[in-house]
Amino acid sequence: MRIDLHTHSFVSDGTDSPAELVRAAELAGLEVVALTDHDTFDGLAEAAAEGVRVGVQVVGGMELSCAREGQSVHLLAYGADPASPGLAAEMVRVRSGRSGRLSGVLDLLARLDVPVSEAAVMAEVGASPSVGRPHIADAMVKAGHVRDRTEAFDRFLADGGPAHVPRYAIDIARGIDLVHEAGGVAVIAHPWGRGREQVLPPAVLEGLVHDHQLDGFEVDHQDHDPATRRRLRRLAASLGVLATGSSDYHGTGKTNHDLGVNTTPDDVFAEISARIGPA
Ligand code: AMP
Ligand code: FE
Ligand code: FE
Ligand code: ZN
Repeated sequence: MRIDLHTHSFVSDGTDSPAELVRAAELAGLEVVALTDHDTFDGLAEAAAEGVRVGVQVVGGMELSCAREGQSVHLLAYGADPASPGLAAEMVRVRSGRSGRLSGVLDLLARLDVPVSEAAVMAEVGASPSVGRPHIADAMVKAGHVRDRTEAFDRFLADGGPAHVPRYAIDIARGIDLVHEAGGVAVIAHPWGRGREQVLPPAVLEGLVHDHQLDGFEVDHQDHDPATRRRLRRLAASLGVLATGSSDYHGTGKTNHDLGVNTTPDDVFAEISARIGPA
């Protein structure tokens, strides 16, 4: 089977509606797709309904904004109950942090002679409950300040960039516990992408596996080069955890992340399905 377990719709920072994304998955020859919008479950009902219509199995997912020692870490949750009180409360806090930092970013941009109005950003956010830097980037593109999201991140918005404002995120160990409490399966997204190896060295991943029963991590991801994938695959095998592969599709918002560009083996997906339990 062709299985892609990490995608984003415009309910967070992708560009497809949830239904469009599921139709695109079918056209890309996927049998299984997980919708994993940032810090929200709001797209899942629409995606699931479209999955039934077009014959694609839709896995309910979410990508939770976590942190370790102040550095951002993304945690994929599969099959977590959106009504689980602990997880739901933290997601509210994270989304407030997303909205709350917007004016700070816009102030910094204005001082850098890159004026963007809050209204222009909110037009990009639309109905999404999860305000992200990609929405700010899209408003910067429309205002003619940058060519695309990549330039907006490279010159201004990336972590540590001149217009970066940190936001609240959950400690990764606590995030894993909350996902489990909600009956979900916890898989760290792109653990060694974009310099993250310093944030999540092998000993730290091992600790999360032993002390918090981390279920697995992404190995095949576009932010991992072939050598990184080989090392992560070996580490997953030695820790006895699941190694997934996914596209991290964002519609037209991210190039080189087409649906199905990386996939997860059948046996790994079967194990994830088996572990999704009652909340
Ligand atoms: P935020 O959710 O506000 O923390 O912004 C992070 C999101 O921005 C990630 O989930 C990616 O979708 C996107 N992103 C991060 N770096 C880049 C980049 N260099 N180019 C385009 N999008 C990016
Ligand atoms: Fe994203
Ligand atoms: Fe991510
Ligand atoms: Zn993602």
